[in-house]
Amino acid sequence: MLNIVLFGKPGAGKGTQAAFLKSKYHLVHLSTGDLFRKNIQEKTELGLLAKSYMDQGDLVPDQVTIDMLEEAVKEYPKAKGFIFDGFPRTQAQAAALDAYLDDKNMAIRATIALEAEDDLLIERLLERGKTSGRTDDQDVEKIRNRFEEYERKTAPVRNYYEAQQKFHSINGIGSISEITDRLSALIESL
Ligand code: AMP
Repeated sequence: MLNIVLFGKPGAGKGTQAAFLKSKYHLVHLSTGDLFRKNIQEKTELGLLAKSYMDQGDLVPDQVTIDMLEEAVKEYPKAKGFIFDGFPRTQAQAAALDAYLDDKNMAIRATIALEAEDDLLIERLLERGKTSGRTDDQDVEKIRNRFEEYERKTAPVRNYYEAQQKFHSINGIGSISEITDRLSALIESL
């Protein structure tokens, strides 16, 4: 199985690239952000809870997020592999994911970070916010809070995967197809 974690700050291009990798390598794309947004749209209890955090640009609590992700993985017993996009975002989530996959004789093959500087990311997010309807993309203060959450809670996840020699990074600046090519070259070298 090919299980990949796409890592990077908001706006790094994880969702865009996951869509290409998914069809190229026949993987299931699981985005926790998308799963939360679906719950919000469907007005579920989980959606209501998640919204109170997402609206501020804060991370949703770990256990809620882990439970939702595990339920989503379970829905694809025949998957050839998964692209995890926006998960794990804390060390506790990374450890929970490893334990869950291990239990199913599965493992993460690689975590790949898409790197770009904050100014470019803010520009991309504000641009996306014009059409996505995402309120967390439309307000610079909320975007900055998402970056702070990233620095505080998500950046340390890098050490977690480095310790397992599974961490790689890619230059996330360039055209979408250039970045897909960089990602594919890395995946094929694994
Ligand atoms: P995203 O679509 O990945 O940018 O995620 C949007 C928002 O959903 C984030 O700002 C968080 O509030 C929430 N979220 C998504 N994934 C996670 C996660 N793994 N852990 C906690 N919160 C998350």
